[in-house]
Amino acid sequence: MAELKGLCMRCRDENKKPTMQVMKDIKISEKNNRYSAKGQCTTCDGNMFKFMSKDDAAKHQ
Ligand SMILES: [Zn+2]
Repeated sequence: MAELKGLCMRCRDENKKPTMQVMKDIKISEKNNRYSAKGQCTTCDGNMFKFMSKDDAAKHQ
């Protein structure tokens, strides 16, 4: 499975901006031809969510 990164709202930088972290336990869902991924941050175990293209979704299913 390819590595998937998303913005983690808990892992913030010194400017309090969300940072990109690697997602684990990824679950892909599709609704009205829109794909999204739910997973957990490998750094803080917080929940993460990301919209993705159909091509990206196919790589993670
Ligand atoms: Zn995090």
